[in-house]
Amino acid sequence: MRQLVQKWNNNNRSKATFLDFHLGKKYENILRRKKIASEKLRVAETNKYVYTVLDGITQFKVCLHKRTCIFGRFQLDELPCPHALAVLTISHTGYEKYCYD
Ligand SMILES: [Zn+2]
Repeated sequence: MRQLVQKWNNNNRSKATFLDFHLGKKYENILRRKKIASEKLRVAETNKYVYTVLDGITQFKVCLHKRTCIFGRFQLDELPCPHALAVLTISHTGYEKYCYD
C-alpha cells in the first residue's frame, strides 16, 4: 500500500503545488503562513547542510542535516520554520521529508 501511495505521489509530482502533500488542514494552514513569512528572508549557504538565513539584520542558522534552526521552532514544531522553508526553497528541496509524522 505504501508503495502504491509513493507511486501515486511520484506520478502526480509534476502537477504538485506547494501544498499538495497531505498534512491535514490545520498543518497545511500553518505551513502556508510560514511559507509566506519565508519569502522575505535572504539565505546564504555556509556549507552543504548549514545555511545562514537573514531576516533584516537578524541571522538564523539552519541545519537541514540535523533539522534544526537556532530559533528553535523547526525542532519544536516538527515542521519547517520560515527560515528552514527559505533554505528548502533556494536549495530546491521538498519540504515533505522535514515534516514529522
Ligand atoms: Zn527558524
